Amino acid sequence: MDSSANSETVIQGIPASAGIAHGQVFLYLQNELEIPQYTVDPERRGAEIARFEQALVVTRQQIRQVQEQVRKNTSEEEALIFDAHQMVLEDQALIGETIRDFQASGLNIETCFNAVAQRYVQAFAEIDDEYLRERAADIKDVTKRVLLVLLGQAATSLTQLVEQRVIVAEDISPSEAAGIDRSSALGIVTDAGSRTSHAVIVARSMKIPAVVGVNDLTTRVKDGDWILVDGYEGVVIVNPSAATMFRYGRIQSEKKTFETQLMAVNELPAETLDGVTVKLRANIERPEEVALVKQYRAAGVGLYRTEFLFLNSHVVPTEEQQYAAYRTIVEGLAPEPVTIRTLDLGGDKPMPGNPHLIGPEANPFLGFRAIRMCLEHPEMFKDQLRAVLRASAHGRVDLMYPMISGAEELARANALLEEAKAEVRARGQAFDAALRVGTMIEIPSAALTADVLAERCDFFSIGTNDLIQYLLAIDRGNNRIAHLYDPAHPAVVRVLKGVVDEAHKRGIKVSVCGEMAGDPVFVPLLLGLGIDELSLTPTLLPAVKYIVRSMRLSEAQAMAREALAQTDPKKTYALVEAFYKARVQPAG
Ligand code: PEP
Ligand code: MG
Repeated sequence: MDSSANSETVIQGIPASAGIAHGQVFLYLQNELEIPQYTVDPERRGAEIARFEQALVVTRQQIRQVQEQVRKNTSEEEALIFDAHQMVLEDQALIGETIRDFQASGLNIETCFNAVAQRYVQAFAEIDDEYLRERAADIKDVTKRVLLVLLGQAATSLTQLVEQRVIVAEDISPSEAAGIDRSSALGIVTDAGSRTSHAVIVARSMKIPAVVGVNDLTTRVKDGDWILVDGYEGVVIVNPSAATMFRYGRIQSEKKTFETQLMAVNELPAETLDGVTVKLRANIERPEEVALVKQYRAAGVGLYRTEFLFLNSHVVPTEEQQYAAYRTIVEGLAPEPVTIRTLDLGGDKPMPGNPHLIGPEANPFLGFRAIRMCLEHPEMFKDQLRAVLRASAHGRVDLMYPMISGAEELARANALLEEAKAEVRARGQAFDAALRVGTMIEIPSAALTADVLAERCDFFSIGTNDLIQYLLAIDRGNNRIAHLYDPAHPAVVRVLKGVVDEAHKRGIKVSVCGEMAGDPVFVPLLLGLGIDELSLTPTLLPAVKYIVRSMRLSEAQAMAREALAQTDPKKTYALVEAFYKARVQPAG
């Protein structure tokens, strides 16, 4: 795109996080490094070694800066990772071997350093010791930085974003998303992704406007271009004209008025017009979000995605570290309940620093993910279970397993939970003996055996993000098929109803904690189908509370009956949308 011509270009993507942002582009590209190979003339070899030493000094400074940035944005603990990076730069074996290789081969220092570093990475990755294996990731990270310095290329990292900019990226991994500083990220636009990708969930929790699925935007803009992000409609406008800016100024102030109206319900109970109270809980990913849960008056936490504790770290957190994080949340919200979901790594949430946990897979969403991985790493899983149990001594904790496919897996997870209880007891540590254990329903086989599972657990929480992906065979992160990801599909509506009925017959409650629960248009359908509780991103609570307070449950039930009889998803959507619109009239 020729931005010098300053022509306005409107591009349609998928709305991912509400709000309007305007600012300059921060282009976040992560291309594979291309390392040139050439021979250095004998008389220049001294200078080549000096160039290497200088690059090590510059890299050290860069790492210190990033460390400061991370300390400011996240925590001291995260910042400590970079001490390990500094140690790599001081590793005399690595540096000495590079110089020896260079003197022997005469090849440019980038080539030698890369080859030596790769040998180290390979050797560490094969060692049967978790700590040493993790060093492979550190070496990889640092090698890339040094090579970028040697090649005179700038390193891009989201933690480096210090000015207020709109992030434009091909995609953002969950761990990168966790490094986003909300004060500098005005908006987020990605080529890839869908409404339920984790970068989007993070954006929504930080109230950063986001549009995803914009195909090749990264190839059409450059750093510094002006861009407007409309997270309501999923529109991105490059070089917006004065007229567009004026129009958006008006839209923004209208939306603000509506948001002010919404915030007015924040303090009021989530009660329907016919007097039914609906429990609205929060989805969180980090202990720091406790303040947000309170601010939005959520009735505790319905989904704490514990994997974010792991994603932010190069090392697997210890039982003590996990216990400290869980306890902070539980104590911070007591007496409200906190539903702690066990580790859901894999799928779109690999743990980059620990490839030995989940290696590369052809089909990660159908692969070694969540409970499957935990059952194969029982010691790691039990560390987590003991941490959860101990946290339950400080307030009400519900435990929940992700990606359960059937009763056998649930039984195996529960057997490990019993072992963990015995271990905690043997140490003389306290825990809540009445801890409730729930199952996520997010795999079709679990939904279809809900009758069996309901006999064996205390509650269900439906993960519609995954359930819809697996029911309709739509990769939730693939923007080419994102339009086919349809919560109004009759298969979805019927399965939800089936799960609710089987659970209620056996006296257990059903929550929905997927993104559908935070979409006010679908909330009446969920409640009408008999869903008991909703768990959603805290910032979406006012909009959901607003529709709950504007409807009668009896009318939602009638609408749900109609939806169940419907076979055309478009008509189902029209039905739920009409129900919503008839009750909520945004200002303007
Ligand atoms: C879901 O699948 O709906 C869910 C809540 O889990 P996650 O988004 O973390 O996979
Ligand atoms: Mg899920």
